Amino acid sequence: MATKRIQAYQDVLKRTPKHIDFDGKISEQFGKNVFHAEAMREYLPSEAYKSMMEAIQNGTRLDRKMADQVASAMKDWAITKGATHYTHWFQPLTGTTAEKHDAFFKPVGPGRALERFDGDLLVQQEPDASSFPNGGIRNTFEARGYTAWDPSSPAFVIGKTLCIPTIFISYTGESLDYKMPLLKALHAVDESAVAVCQYFDKNVTKVNATLGWEQEYFLIDQALFNARPDLMMTGRALFGHDSAKGQQLEDHYFGSIPERVTAFMREFENESIALGIPVTTRHNEVAPNQFECAPIFEECNLANDHNLLLMDLMEKIARKHDFRVLFHEKPFAGVNGSGKHNNWSLSTNTGINLLAPGKNPKSNLQFLTFFVNTIKAIHDNADILRACIASAGNDHRLGANEAPPAIISTFIGTQLSALLDEIEHNVKEGKMSAEDKTELKLNIGKIPQIMLDNTDRNRTSPFAFTGNKFEFRAVGSSANCASAMIVLNTIMANQLKAFKVSVDTRIENGESKDEAILKELQHLIQDSKKIRFEGNGYGDEWVVEAEKRGLANLKDTPRALKAWANEKVKEMFNELNVLTPRELEARQEIEFENYILKIQIEARIIGDMVQSQIIPAAIEYQNKLIQNVQGLVNVLGENVGKEAAKTQLELITKISEHLNSMKAHADKMLDARKKANSIEHAEDKAIAYCDNVKVHFDDIRYHADKLELLVDDELWPMPKFREMLFTR
Ligand code: ADP
Ligand code: MG
Repeated sequence: MATKRIQAYQDVLKRTPKHIDFDGKISEQFGKNVFHAEAMREYLPSEAYKSMMEAIQNGTRLDRKMADQVASAMKDWAITKGATHYTHWFQPLTGTTAEKHDAFFKPVGPGRALERFDGDLLVQQEPDASSFPNGGIRNTFEARGYTAWDPSSPAFVIGKTLCIPTIFISYTGESLDYKMPLLKALHAVDESAVAVCQYFDKNVTKVNATLGWEQEYFLIDQALFNARPDLMMTGRALFGHDSAKGQQLEDHYFGSIPERVTAFMREFENESIALGIPVTTRHNEVAPNQFECAPIFEECNLANDHNLLLMDLMEKIARKHDFRVLFHEKPFAGVNGSGKHNNWSLSTNTGINLLAPGKNPKSNLQFLTFFVNTIKAIHDNADILRACIASAGNDHRLGANEAPPAIISTFIGTQLSALLDEIEHNVKEGKMSAEDKTELKLNIGKIPQIMLDNTDRNRTSPFAFTGNKFEFRAVGSSANCASAMIVLNTIMANQLKAFKVSVDTRIENGESKDEAILKELQHLIQDSKKIRFEGNGYGDEWVVEAEKRGLANLKDTPRALKAWANEKVKEMFNELNVLTPRELEARQEIEFENYILKIQIEARIIGDMVQSQIIPAAIEYQNKLIQNVQGLVNVLGENVGKEAAKTQLELITKISEHLNSMKAHADKMLDARKKANSIEHAEDKAIAYCDNVKVHFDDIRYHADKLELLVDDELWPMPKFREMLFTR
């Protein structure tokens, strides 16, 4: 009888692409399932429309009467799109999104029903929150949480459901999600950045953070996925020998995207377009069966909602095409992992990208101000930047010579490095001479011509300047971007606030505005120098050099997460009103728990697969060999028979050796797991899982993968890498 694996593989070979016919032009489809400004104008009375626009642009509150009107309009609009239900869509700290569905339809008496949806239901909901992580917040305070409407992100219809983006908070007002602190961080950076912009342009009244993410993912056939408990339960192949053909031949082999994949991409792209996600047809293939999708950047909160929505869509649509999409950071050892680059910048209501060099010395001084302040913020807060991207999955990626190292640094390119060096050395304390000023001005004025084409593309840096934005490359593919964006925007808000205070003091003490800014920038450049690194981030020399510079190299999540306990970090988040110390503590606890859970599940699955799949397959093959040896001895006699069975005997011994070693490590792992489970304290437990449990994974795998090579292909139970990664 063929193994499950062989059956699955045969299914895969029979697949054909499932092309979907689309009608209409893309431009006509864009945002058709979104309750955006135009739809609002059509459905809302003008007064309510105005309050809605106010709420979206300035975060003002809608009163009850307006909320009722918006709810009613939203419902009428959604019904024309075929919606029968609505849901508050939110982002609990589990990393995915959650929904609770309710029908518009309400019975109002025997045999009678009405379509009902009012302001109350729009504005607030009470999902059964007890199953979402809360880091102890709800245990101590109040047992329930509620979701509250975020008018700044538009509602949308998927299938028959109206989805309303919401924040998720406890009854005592503490955030239990990613969206609420993100909105607060965006507000903080808006305030600080506007204040600094006022030095340059009084017309700036609003600064938005922008986010353009690039989502990497793997696609695996559903049948093969289902034949691997590890992929099903953890999103990662916990066993599996590299296929003989790896990534080495990428240019030859991965030229064109298979038609089945194209059909999948076209469908999710089309759905995304209808939901207003500005995906462009840019899909790269990176490693075998790995792909990337990168929409055009948007305002940060919206971009983040769109990322989560797209991940959701991809998972659903992949199944229709008999695929599973893997967002795990490292599903296959030996092949590139997946990241989610977060391209970030700040842009003003006057249409200026604050991280893009301008056309004259004045706008370039503004650019330099934001640029240098970003570097200083990275320098001062490298520890929490590391912490905000830490996860069990990302640990496999950072520092693995295909993704940025775990050391946080920033790359800015030769031209800007030279300019910063010049400012550092040539701006003089005290009165600057007219010539000095002119020369500096000239050089600052020169940035635009040299910049965009000269920003070297250093792909090894975790935080690189790429001409008109910074690219945070260390973010993991499965992460909610908000985690990184909360930190980045908060530290930027904090830095800009401090900058403003220092420059104002200088101005009060008689310096001219430009001089005060330049001198302050000079200090920031000096103080943040050690975070700048232009070399190869994958090299071993960098690890040594970084240590000399005093930069941290935290290789695992439990160590990285310690940064959240830092008093200064708590103060900063509290002062900027992004997260209270209690909320931060709760988040750290949740992160430790997430880590423990992930490693715990992996350990269990490893144990199960060793016991119920790998050992039986190896023994079955070994028995076949033993029978064969016995047969040979029977036929040829003891001496000649054994001589003839030399290969078989060797195999029998090798299999036993690997079986025993594998089992011994698995036993040790089980022991360590039991010990770790008895630890109460989340941080200590996470460290025990990292140092004492996880350390056995590679050893167990080493022997299992050796067995994969030894055992008869027909008997091996789990799909092999070559089948999963190269079947088209
Ligand atoms: P890469 O070379 O890293 O693949 P690309 O230049 O192709 O990068 O893509 C960069 C990403 O940066 C795109 O998703 C784009 O939307 C985004 N981006 C461009 N400008 C900005 C900006 N001002 N703010 C945020 N993101 C931006
Ligand atoms: Mg990129």
